[in-house]
Amino acid sequence: MTESRNTPNTRRGAAISSLVSAFHCPRQYYFSTKHEQRTSERYTICKQVSCADAHATVERLWEMVCLIHPGISEEKKEFLNTCLVAMKHAPARPWSEIDILVRSERTGIYGLLDKYYAPTGEYALTRCTTAPPHGCWPEDAVRTAALLLCIEECMSKRGDASPKGLYIEYIPSGVIRYYEPSLKDRRRVIHLVRTVKEVEKGFFPPKPLNPPCSRCQYTQSCAQHEPRRLSFLFKQ
Ligand code: SF4
Repeated sequence: MTESRNTPNTRRGAAISSLVSAFHCPRQYYFSTKHEQRTSERYTICKQVSCADAHATVERLWEMVCLIHPGISEEKKEFLNTCLVAMKHAPARPWSEIDILVRSERTGIYGLLDKYYAPTGEYALTRCTTAPPHGCWPEDAVRTAALLLCIEECMSKRGDASPKGLYIEYIPSGVIRYYEPSLKDRRRVIHLVRTVKEVEKGFFPPKPLNPPCSRCQYTQSCAQHEPRRLSFLFKQ
């Protein structure tokens, strides 16, 4: 997902990418709102591979990637090649529309859906991570549940039936999985919307029980925001 999540006032509601960030750690989301978020080059590469036709070559796709990311390092071409090889025999999902903005007024969320295929009414999410051994990663369960809430609302306005799940394309692994969000995933989305709204009002969230600090780029800022203990006052 690539929608900008640093401009909460320009669109009504919370971006699904914000929910995912807050899912990792609400504080990470707090700090990310202070910095501009750029579309990942890996995601752009995976998106090109996901939407490529059967005869696409590395050279042709690389040209497209360079148009989207002028100045991208030549080293990333190897990743493109890896993805293309991985997807050679994978059933990439068909599409008739890509990058569709979907929204749920009831939950107050919006996001970009990677692929929609009108003839069969199927939806797909394109990921630039490798696939887990089974199912999908927890953050993709949140993404899927949030997107499905938006799709359901759109379908119910049209009087059409909505799907039970979404396809997730793990491009670097060449793995495509269908995932139906659970009730727990939906509950998480509702809870995360509240967290994101609180952060956007300026609330600094507490550290979660099991935060991913070892992989966090905000460790320094986070330590500086820790409330000082009273014992600090008595130190000389
Ligand atoms: S250092 Fe840990 S608690 Fe702080 S923002 Fe990062 S992940 Fe969250």
